[in-house]
Amino acid sequence: MPAGVSAEVKTYKLYVNGDWLEGDSRKTFPVYDPSTEDVIAQVPDSNSKDVDRAVAAAKAAFEDGPWAITTPQERGRTLFRLAEKIRQNVPMLAELECRNTGKPIVEAEFDINDVATCFEYYGGLATKILGYVNPVPDNAVSLTLKEPVGVAGQIIPWNYPLLMAAWKLAPALAAGCTCVLKPAEQTPLTALEMANWFSEIGLPAGVVNIVTGFGETCGAPLVKHPDVNKIAFTGSAQVGKIIVKQAAESVKRVTLELGGKSPNIFFADADFEAAIDGALFGVFINQGEVCSAGSRILVQKPIYKKFVDAMTEKARNIKLGPPLERETKMGPLVSKDQYERVRSYQDLGKKEGKVAIGGGRAEKFAKGYYVEPTIFYDVENSARIAREEIFGPVASVIPFDDEKDALKIANDSPYGLAAAVWTRDIFKAFRVVKALRAGIVWVNHMQPTYVEAPWGGYKQSGFGRELGPWGIEEYLETKQVHINLNEQPIGWY
Ligand code: ADP
Ligand code: MG
Repeated sequence: MPAGVSAEVKTYKLYVNGDWLEGDSRKTFPVYDPSTEDVIAQVPDSNSKDVDRAVAAAKAAFEDGPWAITTPQERGRTLFRLAEKIRQNVPMLAELECRNTGKPIVEAEFDINDVATCFEYYGGLATKILGYVNPVPDNAVSLTLKEPVGVAGQIIPWNYPLLMAAWKLAPALAAGCTCVLKPAEQTPLTALEMANWFSEIGLPAGVVNIVTGFGETCGAPLVKHPDVNKIAFTGSAQVGKIIVKQAAESVKRVTLELGGKSPNIFFADADFEAAIDGALFGVFINQGEVCSAGSRILVQKPIYKKFVDAMTEKARNIKLGPPLERETKMGPLVSKDQYERVRSYQDLGKKEGKVAIGGGRAEKFAKGYYVEPTIFYDVENSARIAREEIFGPVASVIPFDDEKDALKIANDSPYGLAAAVWTRDIFKAFRVVKALRAGIVWVNHMQPTYVEAPWGGYKQSGFGRELGPWGIEEYLETKQVHINLNEQPIGWY
């Protein structure tokens, strides 16, 4: 059992202004282990008053606290210290993430290491935020300064809980912002555990505040709050649209990452074994609960039949199991709601396509939200299972004729987060890369994600970019400064 996580149910508090507080309503809600359906923790059901307290703390820390005068060097070192704490505690955090999300332990370990890498990256970037000298045509010095945007409200999803927190906290802190983080109601535990180290690593009170709660009662007040300068959101397109509307009232900066229906395109000349592997990895990693999941598998007609058969054969060997077992490659879905949602798409898929494998609950488990890895083939791109984000291990295989046909199908989606193309023809690969309307395009791979490279979507997959230098830009304002060097009156009147 990891430190601080016992078999008996732990009740967490809110982290506001460097303190652990009861929620205003004193109400809590349960957090589950989706592999057993057991309650593993209780967390505060925060309301708008809790959000007010957290925002007030973040505002005070931004305006008057030690963070307001901290140097970029010190901000960087603070992030390095946090990264080190995380690296030292990978086993504890990975186990907690694994128990709470249902993701395989090996994947959870990968995620937590990536969390540390993200804090390290932005720790380094804190001292590389540069301004400009603008070449204006006058006897003057014109400068461009980069300044923190202020209080950032950060609303994150349940599929990569601590990693999504890091993607948002790390650039914000490097930029000098202060934060109110709202984890997903299903998976708030690792972020709360991380907060235990904030004062020890030298993060002043109020710089990062964590409120746990539901979307409408805790997330929405954060989006509407007049003292929040920016909202960063990762989640469903449906909620993203609500957030844009609500943020309009106070003209908040908004960045959105809203998932997708990403095409994974296989030309007949692709390395066949690598292609089969890439098709499965692209859609089934993390139980398919991935915003960039390659859930539309486009296969060129000459290899189509062989491809569906080989994929199906290989999918039979995917090891479903308890998430804490190291051989497990697929755990349960995160929650009952998500299970029901995915089950309904599995049922719909039986009407809209043909079943190659799966299509139901994984019945060998007495308890837990396990579903079978599911592959539908002969799916029309107009089918709902090919248009709507399922966020589970459900693939739609779609045949195509040639490059033009593949691109037409691939781009025919309201989303544009990611895409992948598999071919050994470099000319074709680049033509397709350029023609795809997506923010991330992989060639002969799908899913590798690096903190050094930008992440975000086209079309209804959102706007703004996370990670790399692009990620910190979203937490910076640009100030123009003009310094007149003429020591005479303007001489106009
Ligand atoms: P899912 O339906 O898969 O849970 P959501 O987009 O609803 O995905 O959730 C992503 C995050 O957005 C969560 O932290 C959730 O609490 C939050 N959220 C949901 N609804 C709202 C809302 N109306 N305003 C702000 N945040 C919300
Ligand atoms: Mg929701």
